[in-house]
Amino acid sequence: MNKELRRAVIAGNWKMNKTRPEAKALIEELAPLVAQAKCGVVICVPYTNLQTALDLTAGTNIKVGAENCHWAKSGAFTGEISAEMLAEMGVEYVVIGHSERRQYFGETDVTVNQRVRAALDAGLKVILCVGELLEQREQGITEEICSMQTKIALGGVSEEELKNIIIAYEPVWAIGTGKTATADQANEVNGCIRGVIAKLYGEAAAQAMTVQYGGSMNAKNAEELLSKEHVDGGLIGGASLKAQDFATIVAAASK
Ligand code: PEP
Repeated sequence: MNKELRRAVIAGNWKMNKTRPEAKALIEELAPLVAQAKCGVVICVPYTNLQTALDLTAGTNIKVGAENCHWAKSGAFTGEISAEMLAEMGVEYVVIGHSERRQYFGETDVTVNQRVRAALDAGLKVILCVGELLEQREQGITEEICSMQTKIALGGVSEEELKNIIIAYEPVWAIGTGKTATADQANEVNGCIRGVIAKLYGEAAAQAMTVQYGGSMNAKNAEELLSKEHVDGGLIGGASLKAQDFATIVAAASK
């Protein structure tokens, strides 16, 4: 068990926030604050901000991601964006299976798997989100839910392709609510997800896998969460919209 074997990644998920001028101001403030980071730094932004983000992060250590992609290469899917379209414009990462997509837009484990497949085929890196609802935690089935979501999402993914996937454990009850999983709860589920990877791909692949925690991670609680053995970074919503807060989390992951 060695945290040194994997790279911490702090990824911002801006959700449906920031106009282009606002995005420009945020990235310009953020870039110098995270320039010395010893962890990966990613900002996942609305489609309308992708070009702005790509232009402003060129030559910096900040990578750019989208917040979703469709599974088809092209076709009659009004309002959707394909993985190929993202890759062609230079986007490197894509968030797939975020709980807000599952909750509000009918995303299922099967469509998550299809999107993962499409993203990998297009050469994108995937931030795959899994996590239980509050009722599921209360029923004591958190590990079963997270294991099942992970297994289905990774169907047909090879060990080589796994290197382009980060898993983000995001308990749904902790997203945008201000309720954070305790560091021990996060560590426990992240460890369980690593165990699933070990069963599917072997111990070496599991030890190399970046498993983030997401859910109200902020400048105050990041250090404790990130100190845990199985917490290899974070997927950050609200706190990624403030350059200073996001930079503090990046600094905590760089220790
Ligand atoms: C998220 O959007 O993935 C997230 C974790 O949001 P927040 O940090 O606001 O809870």
